[in-house]
Amino acid sequence: KGLENIHKIVVLGLGRSGVGAAVLAQKHGFDVFVSDGGGGGSAFAKALQEKDISYETGGHSMDKILQADLVVKSPGIPDTVEVIKKIHEAGIQIVSEIEFASRFTEETLIAITGSNGKTTVTSFTGHMLREAGLELTVGGNIGESFAAQVAEGSAQYRVLEVSSFQLDGIDTFKPHIAVLLNITPDHLDRYDYKFENYIASKMRIAMNQDENDYLIYNADDPVIVEAIKKRKIKSRLVPFSLERKLDYGCYLEDNNITITLDNNTISMSTDHLTIKGRHNTANAMAASTTAKLLQIRKETIRQSMQSFQGVEHRLENVLKINKVQYINDSKATNVNATYFALESMEQPTVWIVGGVDKGNDYSELYSLVNRKVKAIVCLGTDNSRIVEAFGNCVEQMVETSSMEDAVRVAYKLSEAGDNVLLSPACASFDLFENYEDRGRQFKNAVRGL
Ligand code: ADP
Repeated sequence: KGLENIHKIVVLGLGRSGVGAAVLAQKHGFDVFVSDGGGGGSAFAKALQEKDISYETGGHSMDKILQADLVVKSPGIPDTVEVIKKIHEAGIQIVSEIEFASRFTEETLIAITGSNGKTTVTSFTGHMLREAGLELTVGGNIGESFAAQVAEGSAQYRVLEVSSFQLDGIDTFKPHIAVLLNITPDHLDRYDYKFENYIASKMRIAMNQDENDYLIYNADDPVIVEAIKKRKIKSRLVPFSLERKLDYGCYLEDNNITITLDNNTISMSTDHLTIKGRHNTANAMAASTTAKLLQIRKETIRQSMQSFQGVEHRLENVLKINKVQYINDSKATNVNATYFALESMEQPTVWIVGGVDKGNDYSELYSLVNRKVKAIVCLGTDNSRIVEAFGNCVEQMVETSSMEDAVRVAYKLSEAGDNVLLSPACASFDLFENYEDRGRQFKNAVRGL
């Protein structure tokens, strides 16, 4: 769709989504060239070599790029870089990889976005649909790129995790079911430090939807409620709430999730939900409302709620040692994610926190830390912000600068019945390659105790 006069396609960025887009473009007979201003990943370069797709790294050949009829931009590239400005000036259309991939498919798209919980809800939804025996792929911002999946062949449903950067580059992308989990400040460096711009980016998920589509949204999130009010959204609005009863949509009362859609109501207990914390109950509600909209049977939804084991690095139980539970929440790279991790702690907690501070405001954590945290282990090359923020909240605070050290200190500070929680509220780039590396190092250190 919308590619009738396109012959030459340039893909910017040699990463997962770039390779996906290039392979898809080649499959459909386009003349494709991949350009990466940095090093690009070597595994990705190899994937292109195998397919005989031409590419460059370490710089952009502008003459070649400006010959493109369409540019597919990887989500990691900000709009402000020189190469993008030049492409704009030349009047060449730039789209994101999910936009590009969606032009090759008529399948039912389920797109999930939010500041936190995307991966959990995407995996959870995928799990429910699979349990129901549907034919689907799960990808996007997790696992395989959407373009790579489309290139591989058709499926009945596409469950996609979409980031704000991917949404910035859409034009016709139209999910049948869109899920909007929450909007809290994140990535503001890419949005002129204006929260409004980031909100607008998230709301693009519904911009092409029509009356036959659905927008499932968190009715407890004032930012989302306000953003919906301000826009003309054509799709059917399906709210979910942990806090109040709803006649239409999904709500929690005591330990029961109730979903009402078009005079059809189902109700399920959360007692057997494996993943813990109120935020995960909200995640379960978003996933099961999606499943219900797709007419999946109550029994299947209920069983999948029990069998879903969560995702690695998200409040992941690692080991119990001397009756102390070690929990890996390395994916908590912002304050809001850590808020929910701390909120879900039911035992006194030794909290490992710190890393690259993105201008965090820690004040919303104070009361939780007072109630739940017995000791803090700071983990970073610069722990001053953490010390400044929480120095007065706890009796014991120890600064460390390696994971092994942090885990050893946490081990000493904890006693039977406690939790040791890694939930950094910060990015990982000071000491680790990424949050996965941080989480794995944590697990290794715990296993080595
Ligand atoms: P994302 O893909 O949006 O980063 P994840 O599912 O990977 O979301 O979770 C990221 C972090 O946020 C984890 O620390 C997790 O425990 C926490 N989290 C998960 N769901 C929610 C939610 N609904 N609200 C707030 N935090 C959440």
